[in-house]
Amino acid sequence: MAIILSGKEAAVSFKKEIQIKVKKRLAERKSAPHLAAILVGDDPASSAYVRGKVRDCKEVGFKSTLIHLKDDVLQEELIQNIQMLNSNSEIHGYIVQLPLPNGINEKEILLAIDPMKDVDGFHPENVGRMALGLKTYLPATPYGILLLLQFYGIETTGKNAVVIGRSHIVGSPMSILLSSNIEFGNATVTLTHSRTKNLEEVTKNADILIAAIGKPSFINKNFIKDGAVVIDVGINRVSGKLHGDVDFDSVKDIVSAISPVPGGVGLMTRVGLLMNTLLAADGRD
Ligand code: NAD
Repeated sequence: MAIILSGKEAAVSFKKEIQIKVKKRLAERKSAPHLAAILVGDDPASSAYVRGKVRDCKEVGFKSTLIHLKDDVLQEELIQNIQMLNSNSEIHGYIVQLPLPNGINEKEILLAIDPMKDVDGFHPENVGRMALGLKTYLPATPYGILLLLQFYGIETTGKNAVVIGRSHIVGSPMSILLSSNIEFGNATVTLTHSRTKNLEEVTKNADILIAAIGKPSFINKNFIKDGAVVIDVGINRVSGKLHGDVDFDSVKDIVSAISPVPGGVGLMTRVGLLMNTLLAADGRD
């Protein structure tokens, strides 16, 4: 019977740890960590993610500020809001919820964020620090996956890990972290993507398989080695229902452990963001 890597259970435990740290800060007369989020437009998925992040802040004792801008906001106006957050010393960290509407240059927005407050860990300075193993904000989804592996004591050292997907927010940083000389790293990592040939042959070698593709139920038992640990990052809405990138029913009797969708990585991504905000409150460096 496969172990279910429950993001729900792990998140409860990590949030308790965060709550304790916040209480300690307050007892030391330090301010509560303060996260801000900029949400542009009314995309239902983005709105739901941001609402979830605000709820999380409340739960662990953080302050939160939501800046909601119309979807026809001008690039300059968005940058002004970012500059306001950069200079507001009461805000420790903030995120700009992606994706942004057409007409907004995401790269320019990213570069306008103060790297010290970039709790999504997407600014090139923080990506570079991650790659060099320096203290930084880790991108929330790969960070959350490392915490999930830690919670369930899944050993990664010397294991063959295959990551599917090379996005800047999930697959690419995941491959860097898993191959780094860190706790829950030290794996031998293969990063695969849409141009990879014979994907099934590659994934069949994976002791740990991380699927971040964005295609519902794409990974079935033909891709899986017996006893593999499978982390399903995909969040795909099909007729109003959430599906992962992995066909859970097809693989559940072969794998040794698997994260469900929903109730898996999504909740851990939110924990990653809370951890980064806590770090921001202490100062990244
Ligand atoms: P993306 O579209 O930026 O990247 C998808 C990647 O999949 C690309 O690198 C592409 O090369 C690869 N790919 C596409 N087709 C492939 C194929 N046939 N074979 C091998 N590789 C293929 O997506 P993303 O932002 O990395 O997100 C991936 C999925 O994870 C989405 O479903 C997204 O909703 C979900 N996601 C979940 C969380 C979470 O917290 N759980 C966070 C971010 C993204």
